[in-house]
Amino acid sequence: MEHLLDYSWKQFRDWFVSKGQPGYRVAQVLHWVYESPKISFDEMSDVPKVVRRELKKSFKIFSMQVASHRKGSDGTEKLLLRTQDGEFVECVLLRDDKGNRTVCISTQIGCGVGCAFCASGLDGIVRNLTSGEILEQILQLKCLLQPEERLSHIVVMGMGEPLANLGRLLGALHRATHKDGLGISARHVTISTVGLPNGIRRLAELNPQYHLAVSLHAPNDELRNRLVPANRRIGIQAILQAADDYFAKTGRRVTYEYVLLRNVNDRPEHAQELAELLRGRNALVNLIPYNPVQGLPYEVPDRRDVGRFADILSRMGIQVTIRYRKGSEIEAACGQLRRVHPEIVSKSKKKKKKKSAAAGQEPTGSSESSPTSDNTSTSDSVIISNDATVAISDHELQMYEATEDLPAEAEQAAPAKPSDQVSE
Ligand code: SF4
Repeated sequence: MEHLLDYSWKQFRDWFVSKGQPGYRVAQVLHWVYESPKISFDEMSDVPKVVRRELKKSFKIFSMQVASHRKGSDGTEKLLLRTQDGEFVECVLLRDDKGNRTVCISTQIGCGVGCAFCASGLDGIVRNLTSGEILEQILQLKCLLQPEERLSHIVVMGMGEPLANLGRLLGALHRATHKDGLGISARHVTISTVGLPNGIRRLAELNPQYHLAVSLHAPNDELRNRLVPANRRIGIQAILQAADDYFAKTGRRVTYEYVLLRNVNDRPEHAQELAELLRGRNALVNLIPYNPVQGLPYEVPDRRDVGRFADILSRMGIQVTIRYRKGSEIEAACGQLRRVHPEIVSKSKKKKKKKSAAAGQEPTGSSESSPTSDNTSTSDSVIISNDATVAISDHELQMYEATEDLPAEAEQAAPAKPSDQVSE
């Protein structure tokens, strides 16, 4: 059975045509799916019964099962989703007092970047998520909303490096932001990257609407090489140049994310160096006090040090915010995803054992990581370090382009209403 959300509009239209049905059925069915993602085909009352039967035989709307659902007292909710091939994906719904409802989604299972302080990268990368799996996270989280709530923002800051899976991500985001999709404003979408220069420029070419956040975490290459091992092959200057190009092309201010680690990168001299680095740029620095990850040696920065760091930046003319921590009690905060679930831990341990056995080595535990360790394996680094991997394959690009517009016949489709029962 196929995953419906992995079908582009064009592919779905072709499927209907192959069944002798008009192309506007795409709009009818997808309207139901985006409005009420948990709906069954049987409930799509304006779709002829014979078509519903065919849909039921061929497609499933959701391909992943909820393995765990945790709720925080601050309104944050986290889902652990089990994929069809038995892997796990995490995604988070965040609520704020202004009524914003933000989903934080993942683009890969695991992560090949291997940031030294992050839970998601501890076991390396398993695979890219499909476009349908990325979109499904948004829809699964939408199902958690109360009737009066509306999804307003998407941040791509979960597991994985988004620009290493750009084509599939754009396919999903396009449907999330399209007026005939979920209709979320493209300007309310933030893509957070460790900084792949080619990927940043490609994103600027393909969609200048989205907001770009670069995870910097250090003001110089020496420190960044230790915290973000992928930096060794890229370097801060190349990233800043690509970010400058992004701003020049899109006019959208770039945000620089900076996780503050006690006594590692939170000293006044780091703040001064960071301000020098960004001087003259239309940039915003988002300071993120570290969220502790069990088994890693980093510590939460002192509150006064966080304030002092922000003051120095501000006095040197850099705009700065401190990110309010949400979801930390349910391990849904930045850097805490993919850590506390026994299913994931035992699975990744088995994988490590297998890998080590194949290589004739003793398996190494993630708890052995140190602030200076490089926990990126060779195979993972191939996926992330070769900037050519951000090139979008023809198929992925087609997927993206195919979602540009609904087929013209879509306009003929009447808005779906439960009362519009259509007989065979
Ligand atoms: S912080 Fe982001 S890029 Fe770094 S390992 Fe974690 S998920 Fe990957």
